Amino acid sequence: CGIVGYIGKADAATVLINGLRRLEYRGYDSAGLAILDNDRVLVSKSPGKVAKLNDRAHADWSPELFSRASTGIAHTRWATHGPPTEVNAHPHLDQSEDIALVHNGIIENYRSLRARLEGKGHHFYSETDTEVLAHLIGDCDKGDLFQAVCDALHQVNGTFGIAVLSAQEPGKIITARRGSPIVIGVGDGETIIASDASAIVAHTQRVIYLDDNDIAIVTADSVDIRDLNNVPVTREIAELGLDT
Ligand code: GLU
Repeated sequence: CGIVGYIGKADAATVLINGLRRLEYRGYDSAGLAILDNDRVLVSKSPGKVAKLNDRAHADWSPELFSRASTGIAHTRWATHGPPTEVNAHPHLDQSEDIALVHNGIIENYRSLRARLEGKGHHFYSETDTEVLAHLIGDCDKGDLFQAVCDALHQVNGTFGIAVLSAQEPGKIITARRGSPIVIGVGDGETIIASDASAIVAHTQRVIYLDDNDIAIVTADSVDIRDLNNVPVTREIAELGLDT
């Protein structure tokens, strides 16, 4: 339902949780976030409100961890596949547990993809369509996360707005959309990804709206947008002009 991603200098978990609060008005049943720390992916999630996720994250992680982790992704879920439980909340991890994904939308062909991946030895924890996409990206990853996401998205039917990070490639977040909005806020030494500009206004007024089938490599100071065949595309930077 709601996506926020952050890469920059600030305490990512706090930025992400505040961003999720801005998206609460859209409705949701559970929430979660993943941050990168010393090239590890750490996940905290909870059924219920963002306030509960905030308590959970502060119980899971030390203040030092909060202040040093400056890259992460977060989600408020409106369950379509699997009940609103902690395991079904996003982010979902791939088999290696190095890749984390948040997803809005529905992967229509997740059953057949899941059966194929289970045949290759993948183990699934949740009942979601989203976890299948996380594993598929991991299965496609031959050392280039961007290419792996492209290859995986070529194999899925349905709708998605996604944000993906990997412990193997800590300086970036990959984001893409098809039928589900993604906005990228271009800040000063920081970049914020969201499904809705209301999660971005507190940071910057300068935004880029992805088109369907766009995929972007986002760092703290760059946004590189391609199509799913790795052909660069140009998207205008717009000024939000919204009150913070
Ligand atoms: N289909 C996904 C799920 O049920 C994503 C739902 C959403 O857009 O929040 O987990």
